[in-house]
Amino acid sequence: MQNERFDVIVIGGGPGGYTAAAKASALGGKVAVVERSALGGTCLNLGCIPTKTLLKSTEVLESVKKAKDFGVDISEATVSLEKILNRKEGIIKRLNTGVEFLMKSNNITIIRGEGKVTGIDEVTVTTPSEEIVLKTRNIIVATGSRPAAIPGLEPDGHWIMNSDQALMLASIPERLLIIGGGAIGVEFASIYQKLGAKVTLVEAMDRILPFSDREVSDALKQLMAREKIVVLTESKVAGIQKSAEGLLVKVETPKGSKEIQTDKVLVAVGRCPEYENLGLPEIGVTVEKGKIAVNSKMETNIPNIYAIGDVIGGILLAHVASAEGTVAAINAMGGQKHMNYRVIPSCIYTSPELASVGLTEEEAVSRGLKIVVGKSQFTGSGKALAMGENKGLVKIVAEAVSGKILGVHILGPQATSLISEAALAINLGAVVNDIADTIHAHPSLPETLLEAAEEAVRLIESGK
Ligand code: FAD
Repeated sequence: MQNERFDVIVIGGGPGGYTAAAKASALGGKVAVVERSALGGTCLNLGCIPTKTLLKSTEVLESVKKAKDFGVDISEATVSLEKILNRKEGIIKRLNTGVEFLMKSNNITIIRGEGKVTGIDEVTVTTPSEEIVLKTRNIIVATGSRPAAIPGLEPDGHWIMNSDQALMLASIPERLLIIGGGAIGVEFASIYQKLGAKVTLVEAMDRILPFSDREVSDALKQLMAREKIVVLTESKVAGIQKSAEGLLVKVETPKGSKEIQTDKVLVAVGRCPEYENLGLPEIGVTVEKGKIAVNSKMETNIPNIYAIGDVIGGILLAHVASAEGTVAAINAMGGQKHMNYRVIPSCIYTSPELASVGLTEEEAVSRGLKIVVGKSQFTGSGKALAMGENKGLVKIVAEAVSGKILGVHILGPQATSLISEAALAINLGAVVNDIADTIHAHPSLPETLLEAAEEAVRLIESGK
């Protein structure tokens, strides 16, 4: 392998890296992927997939608990965390094999080890037994991110955990305090609350999910409170002490200082790009504000070195990493493709789910746009009622005169699937009449999107 010359070497086999590798290979390139851990990256091994697998187990548990409401009598539900975790591991293994198969069937060389950029056309891989120096025309850096830590509250894996460790708990804590009300924090709050823990969520900003539409995130906060999750906004953890009963956490809230007893603390305060040991500054790659700087072609300041996914910061989502990977691969193989961030669905897998695409109401207003907001609640949806999940709403933000859809925000059952219709609509430049004039199946959840569009049409026609 030492003397082989590649067209593209991808460092990192997560959703960004493996998608880039597959695309570059499909375009005729000789491609290698360097991965130091398991193929599939954070998403498959410690992120998207394991969390959704755990969430499904909690949903099944909920269904069993609520079975009586549906006229079904089942004896009491018991939980085996060991079996839940085994199921999660099984699914991860299956998908790891799937990614490996994808690479092999595309004739992509998989190199297991720690990759480092040692020249503008050179990657050195350190494996347990040797150091391999590889030559390449292009390098795509796709090394992802790691959980951010709070100085003084570094995870020890037992009392204080990060998200990686929270996916592997041997037992369900009676009480869990989560620092950070972003996507990861609220998802874990949902998982552990349903598994029986008493959850407190502490968020420094004035609301959870600060980047989502305020009305929708406030509605989710209320629903979480109904599930007995204590959500403390505008609050900060000021210190943690070990006590006879576990941990005593001091939290500064707008109403003063509070002391909260808990068994474990989960720190979920964001993620840091993983680029420090790649040797990039040494070969002249610009790293700015803690992330690798790239242009819209995903090129760094050295044109044949690309960077994609979590390592460039920005929107830390698997489908964004994959889209950036595709752009980088096309350009590395001689194409001219620019990344477009206009339509990026963002999904939060709470109960109910929250999904958004496009501008929030606040963003549209702050840009000085004249807008209408069409809304519809799931309360009256026949399908949602039949499912026993009729909480939440659909909100469409549209231009007041043209009716062009600017953003859609959904809190409710299967919101993360429903958002695809909205993403397609925005991508096609649709107006609210396009949704309102489309016959939607009955009874179905997308009817609530239809009703929100009809409401926006009414508002436009009445000039309100
Ligand atoms: P990663 O997936 O992090 O992959 C990077 C890979 O590079 C890793 O496998 C790593 O081992 C490897 N690597 C790093 N350095 C080196 C090196 N020097 N040599 C060799 N290999 C190296 N996103 C969603 O879209 N939907 C979700 O539902 C979702 N849920 C999430 C839940 C949690 C708990 C977390 C933590 C994240 C979640 N995310 C979700 C975010 C998503 O996981 C990331 O955005 C995505 O994995 C980024 O992909 P990536 O390819 O950039 O990096």
